[in-house]
Amino acid sequence: MLRVNEIFHSIQGESTRVGLPTVFVRLTGCPLRCAWCDSEYAFSGGESLSVDEVLARVAQFGCRQVCVTGGEPLAQKDSLALLQAFCVAGYDVSLETSGALDVAAVDARVSRIMDIKAPDSGESGKNRWENLRALGAHDEIKCVLASREDYEWAKAVLAERRLTDICPVLFSPVQGRLDPAQLAEWILRDRLPVRFQLQLHKILWGNERGR
Ligand code: SF4
Repeated sequence: MLRVNEIFHSIQGESTRVGLPTVFVRLTGCPLRCAWCDSEYAFSGGESLSVDEVLARVAQFGCRQVCVTGGEPLAQKDSLALLQAFCVAGYDVSLETSGALDVAAVDARVSRIMDIKAPDSGESGKNRWENLRALGAHDEIKCVLASREDYEWAKAVLAERRLTDICPVLFSPVQGRLDPAQLAEWILRDRLPVRFQLQLHKILWGNERGR
């Protein structure tokens, strides 16, 4: 069984799939507490559903893209079975994960969008660096940055761990904490081979839940 916070149809706001109509399955619960978390409502609540029940609800949207998010989806052991079931059913599946839990057992057909937590999140001590060995070219690494210090930290990690040799790397600003144009300028000045991104769904709908 899975604890499911919400299932909704929206536009993918992040990653290289940005802009694609997508069904989001948000699982309840997260062992982290990032200082800038924008989905605290997913820490609790929701309803208990079986894998088959989740698949049936998602099928109603008639959409090939599915994103399993949270919270931290991998904190629920049945998330692995859910991800596999979506793959078997023929969906294009992505997973948004904090980077704090083991991603190696995720079905290889799933695109893992894995955070690396920068210091201002307050959770950079939870980065599970072994995960980098499990990622491949169809996965993505995301760094959400709240300050110049976060940016310099991420730039150093990018070089030291050769992140762009693994998969695409995304840098994005924390809304209201780091000016997006400033981050874009730093990336250009330093010639970083990363993808700058804004959260498209927030530009469209603000922080409205279920969007
Ligand atoms: S990992 Fe994600 S859901 Fe969990 S506290 Fe951090 S930002 Fe929020």
